[in-house]
Amino acid sequence: MTHQLNTIPEAARIRELAGRRTTLENAVRDLRIEVDDLVREQKRADADVEQVKTRRQRDQGMIDAGQVKDPKALERMLGELESLHRRINSLEDVELEVMERLETAQASLDERTAEVSALDGDEADVRQAFDQKSGDLQTELATVQAERKTTASGMPEDLMALYEKLRAQKGGVGAAALRRRECGGCRLTLNASDLGIIAKKPTDEVVRCEECNRILVRTGESGL
Ligand SMILES: [Zn+2]
Repeated sequence: MTHQLNTIPEAARIRELAGRRTTLENAVRDLRIEVDDLVREQKRADADVEQVKTRRQRDQGMIDAGQVKDPKALERMLGELESLHRRINSLEDVELEVMERLETAQASLDERTAEVSALDGDEADVRQAFDQKSGDLQTELATVQAERKTTASGMPEDLMALYEKLRAQKGGVGAAALRRRECGGCRLTLNASDLGIIAKKPTDEVVRCEECNRILVRTGESGL
C-alpha cells in the first residue's frame, strides 16, 4: 500500500511544498530577527536625537531668557548651539537610514509571510486531492483483497502454501500466466521440448517455470 501511495503524484507535490515551506520559514525567521533589531536601533537613534534636542532647547532657553550675561560665556554657548545643531542633523540622517532599512526588511517579511499563507492554501488543496486518491486506493485494495479471498477459498491448501512462499520470495508475484510460450513472471520463452512436457501434463498438475520457479498458469493462449 505504501508503494501505491508513493505513486500518487500529489505525494511528491506535498513533499516538494514541505521543502519550500521550510526554506520560507527560515527566511521569515531571519527577517523577523532583522526587523526586531532595526526597531530597537530606530528607537535608540530617536532617543539620541531627542536627547540632543533637549540640550539645545535648554541652552537656547537660557540665552533667550538673558541668563547668560558674560559675553565670553555667551559666545561659547552660541558655538555649542551650532555644534548641537550639526549633531542633530547627523543623528537624524542615521535615524532616517535605519528607518529605510526597517521599511525594506518589513516589506520583505510581509511578502514572505504572504507566500507562506499561499503555500498553505496550495498544500491544503493538494492534500485534499491526495486524501481522495488514497481513499479510492484503499477502497480498491479492500475490493481486490475480498476478491482474492473468494478466489483462494477454492484452492488446495498445499498449492496456496506454495504460492504464498513463492510470492514472498519473488517480489509479490508467485504465479504467472504462460502466454505465447512466454513466462509472464520472468519473460523467458520456453523451448519446444519444455512446452511439449508441459502440454502432456494433466491440467490439475502444478507446472513451474524452469527459470524463475514460479507457478505457471496455462491459458488458452499458452502456445501449447
Ligand atoms: Zn519464469
